[in-house]
Amino acid sequence: MLPEMTALQIGHCKAPAFAARRDAGLRPIRFPAGAALIRRTALGSLLFDTGYGAAFFTATQSLPERFYRWTTPTRLLPAESLERQLSRLQAWPDLVLLSHLHADHVCGLFDLARLPPVLTSREAWNALQQGGRLATLKAGCPELVRRRLLSLKPRFIEDYPTIPSPLSDWLSGPCYDLAGDGSLLALPLPGHGAGQFGLLLPQTTTGPQFLISDAAWSRAALRDQVPPPDAIIRRLGVPGDYSRTFRSLCALSRGRPDIGLWPSHCPEAFS
Ligand SMILES: [Zn+2]
Repeated sequence: MLPEMTALQIGHCKAPAFAARRDAGLRPIRFPAGAALIRRTALGSLLFDTGYGAAFFTATQSLPERFYRWTTPTRLLPAESLERQLSRLQAWPDLVLLSHLHADHVCGLFDLARLPPVLTSREAWNALQQGGRLATLKAGCPELVRRRLLSLKPRFIEDYPTIPSPLSDWLSGPCYDLAGDGSLLALPLPGHGAGQFGLLLPQTTTGPQFLISDAAWSRAALRDQVPPPDAIIRRLGVPGDYSRTFRSLCALSRGRPDIGLWPSHCPEAFS
């Protein structure tokens, strides 16, 4: 049986439309916090990212962390919480892959009654361990969330074996074979945050799917080849790396239109 992927939206924030693509205006739009539950994998049920959670609101209650919430007003309805959505689906993840360690990708984890094993990148983990309160806030992870993350004992993607990447025509870098059978592949998507990874599912009940986290903010931006503004890219990552990854994904979306691309905050993907 093939893996089955269910897209989840765990809260949203509002930010100007141009944050997703430089040709859009100042009008605020909703950026969903996307995650995905992948059932029937060789590793059991796998959760990719976890969206917003109560930890986000606690961690951004006082200054200077409050700025995070002011600049990107955030909402999480009780019915949208990760725990509630998973219990409606009667699904309990055996493993959670955190694509990178920004608050809008990790906070939902702490709403789970039972914490599953966590998998993330060693590069992201090492970066999280460095810097003080302001540096970690600037890096997209308020201090209280950082402390909760650092209390975990994650597995690291870089410790898994590599195989030749099915997307080597478009993306360079190693391809980590998480399940040992080529069915769950972690691919580095450098340029946003530290040590960001995407998850490629070469086969699912709905065809090949590629969860690309924050390597782009919308499918339309990839189709139209319009990146976010330089200021946004620079604030959250390394511009040269980001541009290379973004251009590679634009080419991939044209070269392999059969692969579903899932930018984590794309309103078209996570509606
Ligand atoms: Zn991010």
